[in-house]
Amino acid sequence: MNRFEHKVVIITGAGSGLGQSSALQIAKEGAKLVLVDLNPNGLEETKQQVLAAVPQAELLIVTANVAKEEEVRSYVDQTMERFGRIDGFFNNAGIEGKQDLTEDFGIDEFHKVVSINLDGVFYGMKYVLKIMKEQGSGSIVNTASVGGIRGVGSQSGYAASKHGVVGLTRNSGIEYGQYGISIKAIAPGAIMTPMVEGSLRQIGGDDWEAAGEEFIQPNPMKRYGKPEEVAYLVAFLLSNQADYINAAVIPIDGGQSYKY
Ligand code: NAD
Repeated sequence: MNRFEHKVVIITGAGSGLGQSSALQIAKEGAKLVLVDLNPNGLEETKQQVLAAVPQAELLIVTANVAKEEEVRSYVDQTMERFGRIDGFFNNAGIEGKQDLTEDFGIDEFHKVVSINLDGVFYGMKYVLKIMKEQGSGSIVNTASVGGIRGVGSQSGYAASKHGVVGLTRNSGIEYGQYGISIKAIAPGAIMTPMVEGSLRQIGGDDWEAAGEEFIQPNPMKRYGKPEEVAYLVAFLLSNQADYINAAVIPIDGGQSYKY
């Protein structure tokens, strides 16, 4: 499939996990990619993976912090200078933050998680939507979480930020549908990425793999999702095949969210 031929797609959090696997899938389908992350080593790893699979891929690599408005404006400006348009935007960078009861949840920690997961997604939409509106086309996929549609516990900052991402998606989808733009959110469950490994280490310490087995037992499929399973969904949602899916939140969690 070449669903992204002549298309320009920005991916944030492209240096690891879901962003990295989506970059690979969308590059294989012909996109020109803008890879954004705070971590230059992760970006380099993604670049090498993409070029190994698609040697002719056109890539713009931008080290940026999505929590800083001027850095978000800059990655959007750099995209326009290099490629002149934005067809798809995977607004995905995020962190989990420390796990704790609400009363013990650090205030700095709360603001840190919200500034990356929610402010970062808002800034991205603010600058990308302006361009897509002028073009009269475009598709945005925001990364929410099961923790953005259900209570999980011990995750005040994460839950607040991801519920916020769902709200932004529903709000802006209604505003921009008339301009040929669709905006959706994905709500992944437990997908095995470095973020989830870090989370299990918080729960289980050195025994994190055993904690991981236990964690997955309530899931109807009794396994973790794979990053490439999310990448297939993201590629579909960013493609023209999904233009009529708008202001919607799509779970990808093995059915976990329906069990809560
Ligand atoms: P990950 O840690 O593997 O990747 C996240 C990437 O985001 C990293 O490369 C990191 O450097 C980057 N990043 C972090 N803060 C940043 C910032 N301020 N500016 C720019 N880049 C930044 O994690 P992942 O599992 O791939 O998570 C990706 C997204 O998916 C996150 O929003 C996460 O909350 C969400 N999510 C993941 C899961 C899961 O099970 N893995 C479930 C639900 C939601």
